[in-house]
Amino acid sequence: MAIIFFITGLLIGSFLNVCIYRIPLHKSIIKTPSSCGSCGHRLNYYDMLPVVNYVINSGKCRYCGEKYSIQYPLVELSNGLLYGAIALKYGYSLAAVLYCILGSILITISVIDLKHKIISDGLNIVIAAISIIFVLNDNSILTDRIFGALLGFVLFLAIALATDAMGGGDIKLIAGLGAVFGVEGVLFIVFFSFVIGAAISVVLLIIKIKNRKDELSFGPFISIAALLYIFYGSKIINLYLSAVA
Ligand SMILES: [Zn+2]
Repeated sequence: MAIIFFITGLLIGSFLNVCIYRIPLHKSIIKTPSSCGSCGHRLNYYDMLPVVNYVINSGKCRYCGEKYSIQYPLVELSNGLLYGAIALKYGYSLAAVLYCILGSILITISVIDLKHKIISDGLNIVIAAISIIFVLNDNSILTDRIFGALLGFVLFLAIALATDAMGGGDIKLIAGLGAVFGVEGVLFIVFFSFVIGAAISVVLLIIKIKNRKDELSFGPFISIAALLYIFYGSKIINLYLSAVA
């Protein structure tokens, strides 16, 4: 089953690349068929085989020879591995499917944020919709999710006002994740987004990819923290609780 999830993840990863390319340009993600961004040649289904196509054509367009970004196979592979890992952890369940969708949105948000420094409202709305499905599935924790969303919103708004380090997209994203994961989840994600952000910033400074003045996108840190919560949230929180008790 994990293999079926993995392959589905690869195929959907190919669609995520389309979203990553088109959403910032405000182009429809479903209406027009895929074509090469360089020569405009329409792509057939066999031109869009995830990862495989990239490897066979050594990362180039079959029609014009234009080199494609390594982003394409990386996004496909990450999404495939993510789906496989979620299947192993959550089995065949509604939660697994919702986490797969959420994970795909987080990958898309992160890559768009890295490239363009924006977080699309449309993607944040999909996260809000996922939280509603979770609530409908288990409505006993509705209040926890409302408080989670509010808490995320207030915390990030305060940080944004105090430091100027994040934008409106980050605030909406953390509020959406608060609605999905509730109070405990949102506190976890806020805390670890800063820990991960600080760790990655230090590494980037040391290897001199970024300097102090460069503005870092915060969306990827929030996304990594959310994925950490999906896989190890309860384990890490239990470790913490047993340490302080
Ligand atoms: Zn081409």
